[in-house]
Amino acid sequence: MSYENLAGRTAVVTGAASGIGEAVAVVLAAQGARVALLARRRERLDAVVEKIRADGGQAVAVAADVTDDGSVDAAVERIHAEYGAADLVVNAAGVMLPHPVDDGRIDEWRRMIDTNVTGVLRMIRAFTGDLLAAAAAGRAADLVNISSVGAHLTFPTYAVYGATKAALTHLSATLRSEFGPRDVRVTNIEPGLTATELASHIDDAQREFIDGMVDTMGALSAQDVADLVAYVGSRPRHVNLRQIMVLPTRQA
Ligand code: NDP
Repeated sequence: MSYENLAGRTAVVTGAASGIGEAVAVVLAAQGARVALLARRRERLDAVVEKIRADGGQAVAVAADVTDDGSVDAAVERIHAEYGAADLVVNAAGVMLPHPVDDGRIDEWRRMIDTNVTGVLRMIRAFTGDLLAAAAAGRAADLVNISSVGAHLTFPTYAVYGATKAALTHLSATLRSEFGPRDVRVTNIEPGLTATELASHIDDAQREFIDGMVDTMGALSAQDVADLVAYVGSRPRHVNLRQIMVLPTRQA
């Protein structure tokens, strides 16, 4: 697929070591954007960057932890030194750690909130100046947050994950009221089941639930979601797709 208006953009993609973030980085680079890839696993980022460069794209690997202020500050410095200001920021980093609430896993609650909510806020704080400046200069400027259909559904054991995604969906909607009048687009994407590494961090019992859903409903590919990010970023700058829910056709 080919999209106009992405060539020459400077993108920052979190969660780019795998899954949706990786696919977003690859598709944006294939369309001519310069892409900074953020995640914690440096070797995975290096492999994706190598693949992008081999295909003629421009990309840089920036190992960073979005839950750590200092790590994000250093990443921003590095990106600005390599590429200058960003005009397309995609927050795809996220973790999903389901457990019954009465297990009291405050460690996992903290990790999900720190990554899925505060991590996104750290990135927004870091790049708001860049996005506003790009928009003020008459260029397209995009903030894209990967939330989840889980923001709206209720599943046992997913209370805290769902709450982090509901917070992100609300944050995206509310940010439009601050950024929209200054020509920065904000897009919230809510995927349903997507085949990635997301469920690889959870224990076997919890994973059976996901596997059962995939058996019944199938799953999107990371590429399916990445195509939407490219579509959103390639619209004329007065067009803002604010909210997209994308599901496997069989997912209710
Ligand atoms: P993956 O597990 O494949 O991707 C998550 C990415 O986030 C990894 O690249 C991981 O890399 C990165 N990451 C995790 N923690 C941090 C951190 N502290 N700092 C920086 N990077 C971090 O799963 P998905 O691609 O599925 O997930 C992407 C987003 O999509 C998530 O926000 C998820 O909630 C959302 N989503 C996924 C759905 C699905 O069914 N898969 C459905 C709906 C939404 P590393 O470990 O190297 O840091």
